[in-house]
Amino acid sequence: MECFGARNFAAMAVSPCPAWRSRSIRFSGNETPWLYRYRSCRRTLEARASGGSESCVVVKEGFADEEDFIKAGGSELLFVQMQRTKPMEKLTKIADKLPPISIGDSILDLVVIGCGPAGLSLAAESSKLGLNVGLIGPDLPFTNNYGVWEDEFKDLGLEDCIEHVWRDTIVYLDNDDPVLIGRAYGRVSRHLLYEELLKRCVESGVSYLNSKVERITEATDGHSLVVCERDIVIPCRLATVASGVASGKLLQYEVGGPRVSVQTAYGVEVEVENNPYDPSLMVFMDYRDYMKQKVQCSEAEYPTFLYVMPMSPTRVFFEETCLASRDAMPFDLLKKKLMSRLETMGIRVTKTYEEEWSYIPVGGSLPNTEQKNLAFGAAASMVHPATGYSVVRSLSEAPKYASVIANILKQGIHSKYMFTRAKSTENISMQAWNTLWPQERKRQRAFFLFGLALIVQLDIEGTRTFFRTFFRLPK
Ligand SMILES: Cc1cc2nc3c(=O)[nH]c(=O)nc-3n(C[C@H](O)[C@H](O)[C@H](O)COP(=O)(O)OP(=O)(O)OC[C@H]3O[C@@H](n4cnc5c(N)ncnc54)[C@H](O)[C@@H]3O)c2cc1C
Repeated sequence: MECFGARNFAAMAVSPCPAWRSRSIRFSGNETPWLYRYRSCRRTLEARASGGSESCVVVKEGFADEEDFIKAGGSELLFVQMQRTKPMEKLTKIADKLPPISIGDSILDLVVIGCGPAGLSLAAESSKLGLNVGLIGPDLPFTNNYGVWEDEFKDLGLEDCIEHVWRDTIVYLDNDDPVLIGRAYGRVSRHLLYEELLKRCVESGVSYLNSKVERITEATDGHSLVVCERDIVIPCRLATVASGVASGKLLQYEVGGPRVSVQTAYGVEVEVENNPYDPSLMVFMDYRDYMKQKVQCSEAEYPTFLYVMPMSPTRVFFEETCLASRDAMPFDLLKKKLMSRLETMGIRVTKTYEEEWSYIPVGGSLPNTEQKNLAFGAAASMVHPATGYSVVRSLSEAPKYASVIANILKQGIHSKYMFTRAKSTENISMQAWNTLWPQERKRQRAFFLFGLALIVQLDIEGTRTFFRTFFRLPK
């Protein structure tokens, strides 16, 4: 029996066996899913490439509540784990580049929890301002395929991290005129982005601990104690949680907010014959009816579109995407739809390079902005509720957020009691929260949530009408 990380699934076409198709994670007796802790769940994968079958073990995890369980992957948890632990070709370890956090020595100014794009960028920017910063999180590479508007990445000085640019982006809604957006789109090289952000951490002097954080408590002197695996405790003046969207164990969220919805997408990077798409255009959405009556049932429940990145005339990344639904559209259904779509279009797959299982919780509550511990990135609800994007926002807001944190800590040095009285510390954390979520941003997010609430109600025809109108609006 092997765990996911142990075998290269990247070039495999993984086909689900019957047990795999029953998607729900089974819980015993009277346990509710979110109380599911530290137990393993087995699934059998029939890996066509290896010609055999093998059992896999879901990485053990605990959840704060039902919402946290849904954010972590809910019924699709196993696929989320597979996406996160996908073996990557180039593997620079963070631990090989950053010095270790010295345990039991001085108190760090700031601990950043999580080594995704948000965590790495915030750690680097904060350390650049002279703070003594420790980064804590599992030593894993980026496994997601990120897409960005080229101009936004250029503005961030990250154009060298884009591996492919399409001069324009196209949207197909029906068989009438497609919409050209008039904006270049890029595929981020996850390796280059990771290396660049890590380099920034190295240059600014961030230290590192390869561990998951279990909880954050407060010492009597007002310092935060970041409790990691193996009972390692890292004291710091402030902690910022950037551990992704399912961070309910480390953060409090507003109670009574909107329920989280989910964007799911199943992608394959493949070699094909008969690719009908122009390699110079990125297909942002293809909502055309490719099968007429045949898939009416699943269309009615989950309208989906095809996202296409033609890397060359024959090498293409296709992703069947459900923009948002109240309950996640299952990956096995997405895969089935993608395969029948390609077949109907006459596209023949000759080789599979990679599969992607994209699970992005959208909407949901904001963090409670009165708590002392801070947050950043997806953990801080920075994912756009109607699109699922967050990378550019996190990378562009990191410098300003870091400078507010640095100012807070500077005030702490000047005011003798600032970090010895919990109440005062909570109040100063408010300055950072207000930078991330000022009233205007909260109002804007409420409008995006309205958009999300609309999208999840629309059927396929309504969705087409909505985007036909949206993409024809003036800039
Ligand atoms: C397949 C996929 C494709 C996506 N594509 C795009 C895209 O094209 N554009 C876009 O803008 N957004 C995209 N997103 C959405 C979103 O922007 C990404 O999920 C993004 O990675 C979020 O960045 P983050 O740093 O906030 O969190 P994450 O990238 O989720 O990083 C969180 C980190 O925290 C670590 N961690 C978790 N728990 C703990 C713990 N207890 N202690 C310590 N560390 C912990 C994790 O190991 C991880 O390294 C995509 C998401 C997925 C899943």
